[in-house]
Amino acid sequence: MVTCPSSDCGSPNVADLPHFWHSLPAESPLKARYAPPEAAGANYWIALAAVAAGIALLVSGALLGLAVAAAGAGWGALVHRQAAAAGERLADWESSRVCLACTGMF
Ligand SMILES: [Zn+2]
Repeated sequence: MVTCPSSDCGSPNVADLPHFWHSLPAESPLKARYAPPEAAGANYWIALAAVAAGIALLVSGALLGLAVAAAGAGWGALVHRQAAAAGERLADWESSRVCLACTGMF
């Protein structure tokens, strides 16, 4: 049996956060408060296109291509890190619980 970790509360009236959130009506003000974190839009294609454009420029003899390809690769890495961090936040949310007595999340 899971109880609320708050020392002032300790209520056994605890629910899984995703389950609780899905059971809330759409017009509930709590719906936004307990909403899952936004997933980062992993836009690899634009980063990939920048790398491809950079390589094409490089092949045609423009030194600028190196900068464009490097920027695309760096952006791709950044997008990848953001997507990984968003995935972690979502996993945290999915494993969270909410206390129905004091509304604390843990
Ligand atoms: Zn509580």
